[in-house]
Amino acid sequence: MIKDFLNFYCTSASVGLSVLSEFILFISNKKEILRLSLTYDDFMLLQNLCDNHNLKLKYTSFKAVDYGGGWASLVKNNGQTIDKNSDTIVVVIGNTADKLSQYIDAEAKFDYIKAGELLGYPQCCIKSYLDIEILKHNWYQYYLRDGKMKYPYWANRINTIFGGGSFVGEMFPCSLNCKKAIDIGKNAANTMHSFGLIKLAEVIKSHCLSPIYLDEFNSISKVVTQKKIEFY
Ligand SMILES: [Zn+2]
Repeated sequence: MIKDFLNFYCTSASVGLSVLSEFILFISNKKEILRLSLTYDDFMLLQNLCDNHNLKLKYTSFKAVDYGGGWASLVKNNGQTIDKNSDTIVVVIGNTADKLSQYIDAEAKFDYIKAGELLGYPQCCIKSYLDIEILKHNWYQYYLRDGKMKYPYWANRINTIFGGGSFVGEMFPCSLNCKKAIDIGKNAANTMHSFGLIKLAEVIKSHCLSPIYLDEFNSISKVVTQKKIEFY
């Protein structure tokens, strides 16, 4: 199974580096639920793979609505025919039908605590999610609010803003110092190494270690400034 899923990862166009850690933890049975946003072609491949390996899958089709200025969001494609070229298919996979239905139910009820638990996220991180979500596209500022200039890299996902990877996947840790989040990051990195994905793990590590720069308003800057936040 692991080989088939790694092949899928390598050939799929839509499973990004940001979610790779969660993908790796799921296929190595260290996580019960996996959530992915896919193109239609990748969705068809994954559906076959799940059938072959007796994994349970549910999907929802979304249309991307572009609000301009780099802001886009996904809107449920309620019962309309899937546009194979442009729709995004959000897939949830569970290793049992029971876990999958518990997750779908939690999402439908906006029970983010139960959904977070099923995704294998630590309680402390789940609880802080509301404080992070409220910041919208400025979510990264939550992690910098203590004014420090250096943080450990294991739970750093700030560079996913620029398409980079993270060892905690798409989970929002409660802090860059959260021991439980750091352990998840280390677990994902060790599992990647055990699968021989050493170069990919190195790429993700380099993204997590990349410094970020803030402008005069403390917003993330695309150019080098005096305010440099480092990771170690
Ligand atoms: Zn935490």
